[in-house]
Amino acid sequence: MGEIFDNVRSVLERVREAARRSGRDPSEVTVVAVSKTHGVEKILEAAEAGISTFGENYVQEAEKKILSVGQPLKWHLVGHLQKNKAKKAVTLFDYIETVDSVKIAQEISTRALSVGKKVPVLVQVNVAEESSKWGVLRNDLVPLLEEIALLPGIEVKGLMTIPPYEEDPEEARKYFASLRELKEKVNGLGIPGIELKELSMGMSHDFEVAIEEGATIIRVGTAIFGRRHYA
Ligand SMILES: *Cc1c(COP(=O)(O)O)cnc(C)c1O
Repeated sequence: MGEIFDNVRSVLERVREAARRSGRDPSEVTVVAVSKTHGVEKILEAAEAGISTFGENYVQEAEKKILSVGQPLKWHLVGHLQKNKAKKAVTLFDYIETVDSVKIAQEISTRALSVGKKVPVLVQVNVAEESSKWGVLRNDLVPLLEEIALLPGIEVKGLMTIPPYEEDPEEARKYFASLRELKEKVNGLGIPGIELKELSMGMSHDFEVAIEEGATIIRVGTAIFGRRHYA
């Protein structure tokens, strides 16, 4: 077995240790292997090593891979979704992590219903209020949730964030903690149709801190597949 196999084993071991350190059950943490720019062979090697969930950023790029892997894997959309790609996205993906407007939630719901699905989604939150990032601002989260809670084609499962890049992963802890606090605050409001369970946070260089702060989904690219090469 090659490098990717070894990388997966080592990531899974680090997940177990981070969970143990924080008194959590490692089975509460799903590793999404983010495979953007990487080919099907690498995806299959990661699957062989124990990964069953993959993440892609672009619908077009994902389509080719999803249709050619030829085995039942789970796929999360982790990149921003444009309205005109929603139809394709709901047929290809098992999970959409990047809802950040009422409009896109409505479009996903409508498209999902038309293919007989109810799609689990996360709402992406821009925790550090960076102008360069997608995601709803903290203050807009509750109004958004109230509007999308009862859409019949989606099921709101939790929150996702991509915090600012910090050299020292400890610096990201405050953002992870703040997403967890937002989730607790929302659950305390008792919005009909909304019970947030999932927190998607943590990437290759900071997933251990994210797990310590309550991540249930981590999105790991480089630590599994190595550096990305853009065409
Ligand atoms: C690319 C990407 C990742 C993976 O990042 P790494 O630092 O390579 O682990 C995770 N989440 C999102 C949203 C991404 O776009």
